[in-house]
Amino acid sequence: MSATILVVEDEPGIQELLKFNLGQQGHDVLVANDSEEAMHSLRGALPDLILLDWMLPGLPGVDFARRIRGDQRLKDIPIIMLTARAEERDKVLGLETGADDYITKPFSPKELMARIKAVLRRRAPQMTEDVVEVASLRLDPVSHRVFGGEQALDLGPTEFRLLHFFMTHPERVYSRSQLLDQVWGDHVFVEERTVDVHIRRLRGALEPSGHDGLIQTVRGAGYRLSAN
Ligand code: CA
Repeated sequence: MSATILVVEDEPGIQELLKFNLGQQGHDVLVANDSEEAMHSLRGALPDLILLDWMLPGLPGVDFARRIRGDQRLKDIPIIMLTARAEERDKVLGLETGADDYITKPFSPKELMARIKAVLRRRAPQMTEDVVEVASLRLDPVSHRVFGGEQALDLGPTEFRLLHFFMTHPERVYSRSQLLDQVWGDHVFVEERTVDVHIRRLRGALEPSGHDGLIQTVRGAGYRLSAN
């Protein structure tokens, strides 16, 4: 599982430690020194997860977490809070911060990686390597193969990611800009009509097994994968 992780932390030593360990696990790491820098980073591309320090210069991590949860575009990004003391951890649990999990410093890299994996599995199933199946359409992230019933289907890399996202989030409508954020990781530098192009290609790729009808256009709203 390889994710893009935004580390919001002002201590250089911990930044380095996190960058090194996350990098070794195959993750891409973005670093912000405070909430303002983090917000700037989020305006461009959305990470798959945020590691957020409680004690930051300027806006504290806990308030930044609340701000993210109150933002329509950002609210679904999983957050793990880094806390220095047990009482901060208790507050994370007690307050409605919106954090998915917390970890107390000093932490072992092994523990942190396990927490990240657990949070991503729960919150971002398209990041995991579990096989997904909808209406006899089967996608295997490990072998990078898609089968419609017994038939192997040929998908380009973007269509594969798009289908993986839809199959792990069925029956929900996503706008073009949401799909750019979720599948392309960027809603600023790619044009929205790019989504339409890849939806068309995806339907074409699913046609041989008759699964193209799973990808539905919802007029004025976007696209959805539905078996109904
Ligand atoms: Ca700090």
